[in-house]
Amino acid sequence: MPVTRALAIAGSLLCAGAVAQELRVEDWDPRSTLVVEEHPVPRAKFPAVDVHSHHGRSTSPERLDQIVAEMDALNLAVLVNLSGGHGDRLRDTVRAFRSKHAKRFAVFANPDFSGIGSPGWPQRAAWQLEADVRAGAQGLKIFKNFGMSVRDQAGRRVPVDDPAMDPLFQTCARLNIPVLIHVADPAEFWAEHDRRNERWLELKLRPRRKRTAPPSFQELIEERDRMLARHPDVNFILAHMGWHGHDLKHLGKLLDAHPKVHVDLAAVLYELGRIPFSGPEFLNRYKDRVLFGKDSYAPSEFPYYWRVLETRDEYFEYYRRYHAHWRMYGLGLPDETLRHIYWKNAVRLIPGIDASLFE
Ligand SMILES: [Zn+2]
Repeated sequence: MPVTRALAIAGSLLCAGAVAQELRVEDWDPRSTLVVEEHPVPRAKFPAVDVHSHHGRSTSPERLDQIVAEMDALNLAVLVNLSGGHGDRLRDTVRAFRSKHAKRFAVFANPDFSGIGSPGWPQRAAWQLEADVRAGAQGLKIFKNFGMSVRDQAGRRVPVDDPAMDPLFQTCARLNIPVLIHVADPAEFWAEHDRRNERWLELKLRPRRKRTAPPSFQELIEERDRMLARHPDVNFILAHMGWHGHDLKHLGKLLDAHPKVHVDLAAVLYELGRIPFSGPEFLNRYKDRVLFGKDSYAPSEFPYYWRVLETRDEYFEYYRRYHAHWRMYGLGLPDETLRHIYWKNAVRLIPGIDASLFE
């Protein structure tokens, strides 16, 4: 067959398929034809602490009643509101969350970065935290703007290992409260936004998440690790598995090097859900170092966590496609590992959580 004729046939075949090909990748949502047993888990097997949640200071008593009812249905014993703020805002948040349902909520404070870089800031930040803890804060949460957008008075980016933070962290060690810290973002946010990028869809739908300016992912992680090394007495909880959920060998080395460093699982379930063999090995080995957390509060999404952690279900759908275009596998964790992840580590690390909720 002459080449031109062959090309013409190929061309007409392409045209015949063109209707189907008009689909955009973000609309493609193929149903799974796999037939296997399914074991949805609406309620966690053991009472759980969600160490990573965000709620406003003006959450109404009626809304809190509703949240508690939802928590009861999910077997969520305690929810940690990381967005406590500092000063008056912290006091308001504690009042809102710890008056009627005191046992069901914990509140973390956030540092006030205004004025960082001025001589008095380090001591002021430490004093503020002491006052916030007296007012009911049970830990410190540092948001990801620290290291990325927080600037000193001269306009310079404040690195994660800035010594100005030392008195604040020393105060956390002395008061024995944990520091839950979010540093960086998924490494793919720094990578070329091309067809090879695993978070291509997320970067298309949320283009502002793309990172083009310094610091790099690597710089942020190195700053964080130097900060961890400088404060071996602080119980750190790295949010989102420290963004190492895709590389558990690396995360294991980090945990080995820093005995008081922990991680939460917030918003990175999709990593564990694709490693049904090495995932449980890791979680069993480091069961003292991993805490359950969810991040965005959506009652319908918690059961995905229970199902991945508890069952041995295969190839089931995930709740957020732009995080993961793949499906989940259950890890079938043993009870003791589940208890540690769900509540034991949280009770050990966060002062004031009532252990009797879990027996
Ligand atoms: Zn968060």
